[in-house]
Amino acid sequence: MQAAVLIARLVPWRLDGVSYQPSPFGKLRLPLSSVEGSEHRKMKGYHDIVGDGGSRILEQVAEQRTRITDGLAGVRHLVAVGSGKGGVGKSTLTLHLAGALRARGLRIAILDADFNGPSQARMAGVQGALFVPGSRKVALPRTRNGIAVFSMGSVIPESEALEFESAAHGESHTWRATREFAFLGEILGAFEWGTLDLLMFDLPPGAERTVQYADFLGPRTSFLLVTIPSEVARGVVARSVAALSKGPNRLLGYVENMSGYYCRDCDAIKPLFVSPAPSGLEIPCLGTVPFDPELARHCDRGIPLAELPETPVGRALEHVAQQLLDSLESSTSACAHAAREQTAG
Ligand code: ADP
Repeated sequence: MQAAVLIARLVPWRLDGVSYQPSPFGKLRLPLSSVEGSEHRKMKGYHDIVGDGGSRILEQVAEQRTRITDGLAGVRHLVAVGSGKGGVGKSTLTLHLAGALRARGLRIAILDADFNGPSQARMAGVQGALFVPGSRKVALPRTRNGIAVFSMGSVIPESEALEFESAAHGESHTWRATREFAFLGEILGAFEWGTLDLLMFDLPPGAERTVQYADFLGPRTSFLLVTIPSEVARGVVARSVAALSKGPNRLLGYVENMSGYYCRDCDAIKPLFVSPAPSGLEIPCLGTVPFDPELARHCDRGIPLAELPETPVGRALEHVAQQLLDSLESSTSACAHAAREQTAG
């Protein structure tokens, strides 16, 4: 089955000016009928809609929730890699931490939740991979080292943009979050996640959106935040910490990426950002990862960590992967423990 056709069947969306209709999988329909193609009809106002407007929206949401819960029943840990800030290395760390854990024999999948700016397809080497039918649902493409990856970059070339359909011209902002999360729900429900030790979500930027993902994914999902040693990035990540701390999701900690620059000629870590001050983030630091131009080159070419030589960045990623695993396996998170001690004190 053609990948674009399959995705088109998941949820209504528009690519290259062509509208695609919802699918056999896509059961979540919103009450658009009152405004769709309504040039000659009077548009209904909010107060004109009685109850759910005939959409059965609550039942549909409940149905979708059940399908998501069923689909993820075999997944042991759900971890969302976020930041709030863009360009700090969320996708890079998601893929390479997954690679480090995969090398230890764990069963891992990545869901690239950045639908409009997907990086995982290129980084993981699954650009152009086809989504084919599995035994019950849709099978996921895999990296050379066996990590299952969903990324919109597999089906949409980098020269094209994904456009979520909106009810009326110029109204895409109204529908965007609804469409985006409906789509995420369809992906969770329609693909074969199977039995996994870890499903990692590579989140888009935005502190506010990070919280929306926490709301949507529910308290089962833990968060790992990524920052770089700049005050600007740390400030944004601090907002994400503050926002996430209000909810029930576990904050595993943060990773400081681009923490120094690995100079191959002198085999030493040199300063990259002039920011010697501690991060000030009140969650555990799971490790620091230096900037390594060779890692950036690997990302651009889609070569997995296993093929990176033994370097400081490789060792740093190994360390963070171990910390992540320890944090997930520990019955009580360091954050919760610290919070309880603070309360008692
Ligand atoms: P984000 O997902 O937060 O937007 P990315 O993971 O896409 O950020 O990283 C942005 C760019 O920086 C990419 O080109 C990536 O390869 C590069 N990069 C990120 N971390 C490192 C690192 N530690 N060493 C070298 N390049 C890195």
